[in-house]
Amino acid sequence: METKTCPICGIEKPISEYHSYYSKERQKYRIGNYCKPCARINANERAKIHFQNNREAKLQYSRDYRADEKNKEKLKVLSVRFKQKYREELQDCYVRDRLSMENSIPASYSRINPEIVEAKRLQIKIKRKLKSLQDGKE
Ligand SMILES: [Zn+2]
Repeated sequence: METKTCPICGIEKPISEYHSYYSKERQKYRIGNYCKPCARINANERAKIHFQNNREAKLQYSRDYRADEKNKEKLKVLSVRFKQKYREELQDCYVRDRLSMENSIPASYSRINPEIVEAKRLQIKIKRKLKSLQDGKE
């Protein structure tokens, strides 16, 4: 029986324990360098490294994007526009923000107690109504 020693685990194994692949250059089947289990571990490692590199590259891209002056302006405009929308529509995130700033109720608490958000939303609505009445708008 033909055997081969795997350089990773150092165990001499029959060649059936190795992957074979077709080499175009040599026009014949060749036996892989590493035994099947070691080749699999290696592939996982490679995938992990590839994933990490990819993640780094993506993070770097978004860092570069935000650091770019002309993008900074664009993002600022977007963020102001979003906040305005949240404020006008009294969306949950905006109401939760006010709760944490004005009433010291953390968002983690108001998120699981929606009735508090509802009450605060009503309070803000009443205040706005009173304000617009005082301003003589209505
Ligand atoms: Zn091995």
